[in-house]
Amino acid sequence: MKLPHIDTLLARGGALAEDPFRATAVPLYQTATFAQDDPEAFGAFDYTRTDNPTRKAVEEQLAGLEGAHAALLYSSGMAGVAACLRLVAPGERIVAGADLYGGTQRLLARLAATGREVELLTDSSVAELGRALQRPARLVWLESPSNPLLEVTDLAAAARAAHASGAWLAVDGTATSPYLQRPLALGADLVVHSATKLLAGHGDVTAGVVAARAPELAAELATARNAEGNALAPFEAWLLQRGLRTLGLRLDRAQASARTLAERLSRHPHVRRVFYPGLAEHPGAALHAAQARGPGQLLSFELAAGTPAAQRALAAEVVRRTRLFSTAVSFGAVASSISLPACMSHASIPAAWRARRPLPPGLVRVSVGIEDVEDLWRDMSLALTAVQPCAAR
Ligand code: PLP
Repeated sequence: MKLPHIDTLLARGGALAEDPFRATAVPLYQTATFAQDDPEAFGAFDYTRTDNPTRKAVEEQLAGLEGAHAALLYSSGMAGVAACLRLVAPGERIVAGADLYGGTQRLLARLAATGREVELLTDSSVAELGRALQRPARLVWLESPSNPLLEVTDLAAAARAAHASGAWLAVDGTATSPYLQRPLALGADLVVHSATKLLAGHGDVTAGVVAARAPELAAELATARNAEGNALAPFEAWLLQRGLRTLGLRLDRAQASARTLAERLSRHPHVRRVFYPGLAEHPGAALHAAQARGPGQLLSFELAAGTPAAQRALAAEVVRRTRLFSTAVSFGAVASSISLPACMSHASIPAAWRARRPLPPGLVRVSVGIEDVEDLWRDMSLALTAVQPCAAR
């Protein structure tokens, strides 16, 4: 039978394997422990740290959406990232993308200080990855599109390069979600999301998910998660499954608005450059279109001004002046937000790493929500017009 469309899978939601009452929404099992018939023979569930029916239903749904053997939910996106990076033992090597979420870079720096070798790529091309993989590695870690510069990497080619050198490819797919891109189908071994963002979608849940293609990796992750106790709590899992039901609707709307804003921003005289893979002039536009179903709702732009200090000051002023965009870290919620990555989401990058590839000082990142697009544009253009015209372009 033909598999249902992802919109159908999302709308139908997950289900408990055995539900005597045939609930049409996943029930919340808000319990820490489960009574057993016999002390020597356990039933399907015994303790929520290990497994919980609500969480399991959402994990099975996510595994289906990603085409994974299994998916595991964690207490945050970073807990999921950490679980994957800990698959790399001291003495082994990690090759990591040129542009990555600041918290991931902070964690990679900590791992580098405790015996793992970490090499950061200098750009997002597969040629650069191939160069780095001339020395063997255990894990390649990429984001495509990356946060905050929306750089695109050829994921199928990256998977081939990783596998040829004996490494796993892990992709942080937070900016796309399985609605737009399925890295496992492109050859990746692991896909990770901050489910705090698009998957939950309402800015009221902190959660992470890791989906693994191979049973062995999934089993190792499940054993470690049970040992460490960083699984997602049942109520958060329940909220996440509720958010997931509307992922397609939310993302279609937000993405259409993001496209409109990106196009208009790219024509605005106070804007030097817009980073959005849905714009024809984006260097990764064709590649992204070939490996994803859409460019998403995250974009960033750089203001036109003379000195770096002037660019930074103008960017901060635009962020301050918008009213409909909350000044907030994170992205992917129904309500739009705006931020200065250099001093917000990416402030935790160690100084030496930041110096290696500094973010543009006037970079503004925008998460487009589902509000009326003309309201959003009016707010954004008022903020842009209010700041001083650029000294130089
Ligand atoms: N990955 C990306 C791309 C992110 O942007 C973030 C958070 O902003 C994370 C991972 C970490 O997720 P969380 O904040 O849920 O721990």
